Amino acid sequence: MRLRTASVRVLLFVRTSGHLLFLLLFQTFKHFRAVHLRSVVLDMATKVAVVTGGNKGIGLAIVRALCKQYKGDVYLTARDVGRGQEAVASLSSEGLKPKFYQLDINDLSSITAAAAFFKDTYGGVDVLVNNAGIAFKVADTAPFSVQADVTLKTNFFATRDMLTHFLPIIKAGGRVVNVSSFVSVRTLNNCSPALQQRFRSEDITEDELVGLMQQFVDKTQKNEHKEAGWPETAYGVSKTGLTTLSMILARRLSKERPNDKILLNACCPGWVRTDMTGPEAPKSPEEGMETPVYLALLPADATEPHGKFVSDKQVQQW
Ligand code: NDP
Repeated sequence: MRLRTASVRVLLFVRTSGHLLFLLLFQTFKHFRAVHLRSVVLDMATKVAVVTGGNKGIGLAIVRALCKQYKGDVYLTARDVGRGQEAVASLSSEGLKPKFYQLDINDLSSITAAAAFFKDTYGGVDVLVNNAGIAFKVADTAPFSVQADVTLKTNFFATRDMLTHFLPIIKAGGRVVNVSSFVSVRTLNNCSPALQQRFRSEDITEDELVGLMQQFVDKTQKNEHKEAGWPETAYGVSKTGLTTLSMILARRLSKERPNDKILLNACCPGWVRTDMTGPEAPKSPEEGMETPVYLALLPADATEPHGKFVSDKQVQQW
């Protein structure tokens, strides 16, 4: 009898502590879920700006300016983690708080991973500055066909990949800035009349433009680009392509997402002293960032510029 009472007591104790444990675990789970949900909701409401090639030159100056002026998180992205984190540390020593994400625009999986990260963490992107770019030095002895292939790969095709994967996650009211160059206009004017007509036309499609950019690269392999109406500048053609692409995508945004009021433009920072150009250029990176940052921070009620080429904060003739 005493044994039975004792086993009932043990059973009751085990059941009660089991309940207590369950209750404790349940409460803890509820608490963590609430904290997690709260942080997800907060991040989704936080605005976010992303700059490519942010570790030096104009890109770094753009990140610095956005850290000071943009009300949201600012991501310095760079293809090299070491160079990127060094740049973040230098901005931190100035009292600024950029965040870092590794992004190599020549690597499609890097682009898709970044797009997924910003979608999951912030629900999308509010400001995208496609600044990353390359240029061969004038003295470089690499064959023109190689220069054409390599330059268009980054400045046109990889930047287009960025736009393909990031445009769908640009939030309503978003701003997209493609750092092109005044060289894009000069190169356009040096193309054959037939090519100029296509680049300026309102009905050129993205596929047609991609075909033309590929045609330039292919023609340089056989040294036939001049006969086909192209000028002798790989950098120039890559930027003519980028400016034209900006116009095509802006028209598409207006057509497909008219209520989202996204503004997308190409711009020129001016001739700026960076590793790309050297010490002769008249503008500092801080002066060079002015137009890209102006476009990135166009006020919420702005309706223009959109689909334009902008230099010194002024729309330029195309
Ligand atoms: P820099 O050479 O100083 O900086 C270029 C930046 O782009 C670097 O951060 C570089 O990274 C990055 N980059 C290059 N390739 C990739 C890639 N595949 N993925 C990610 N990042 C990459 O040049 P600028 O600051 O002068 O140029 C910035 C932009 O401005 C370019 O698009 C350029 O064409 C344009 N521009 C510049 C002008 C000027 O006068 N400087 C004039 C007109 C336009 P990393 O350090 O790893 O190489």
